[in-house]
Amino acid sequence: MRACVTADIEQFSDAITKYGCFRECSQSPDDYHALRILLDIFCEEDIPSTLFVLGAYAESNPSILDLSGENGHEIASHGYTHLDLRSLSSAALREELSRCHHLFTARGFRAPYYGFNTLMVEYLEPYFVYDSSQIPVRSASRMDRFLNVYMLSKSLMEIPISTVGIIPLTSMILRMCPLSLAKMIALYVLKRDGYMVINFHPWEFSCVLPDVPIPSYVTKNTGPAFTKKVKAYLRFLRGLEVDFVTMEQIYELYR
Ligand SMILES: [Zn+2]
Repeated sequence: MRACVTADIEQFSDAITKYGCFRECSQSPDDYHALRILLDIFCEEDIPSTLFVLGAYAESNPSILDLSGENGHEIASHGYTHLDLRSLSSAALREELSRCHHLFTARGFRAPYYGFNTLMVEYLEPYFVYDSSQIPVRSASRMDRFLNVYMLSKSLMEIPISTVGIIPLTSMILRMCPLSLAKMIALYVLKRDGYMVINFHPWEFSCVLPDVPIPSYVTKNTGPAFTKKVKAYLRFLRGLEVDFVTMEQIYELYR
């Protein structure tokens, strides 16, 4: 069995772009410190990860790429601006992907907010060999309901976030569910699929997040409690003797 632990490397202000409220807030979390916590956990638990780095964040803080590349993590792309790509014109989408490509090359892509639609495939194909933007239960079309790895086109593979029923293995599951339930779900997915894909964000490890008008579930149970839970969860996976793999390795296994 294999576990693919991924993270979207972005600032808290990027994550809440769609709520349009961050400028109202003068307080800013220590995103760099939060990233350090996440990377230290992966290092302590000896977990190779795939890190989907936001282009604008890497451009304004070039050390992010060096940090993210430590310990053999795979660097993939999370777009440039963290806008919902489904809302962009063709020209803007092309520009978004091209700007990232000029900053760093990556084989994989994940759209902000898991905001994917099939119209994006032709724009992703020139740059990437896999996409990991889909949460099957959220997709409207029947084709996109496939739970496992499948080909979006001849050259672009989809590696969706693992999902059970209506529950995707995003980090929210760990923040909102008891650890025992999160473990049961992981075990179920590993037995069902032979692998699992889960995703985290650095800002979830931050001690203090600004009080901004966004849904409470976005920031609920973040900070030290979350850090402790993630460590316990990853140790549980290690105890199952799963192989921790990057997304690139999943791509190579299934192509
Ligand atoms: Zn994101």
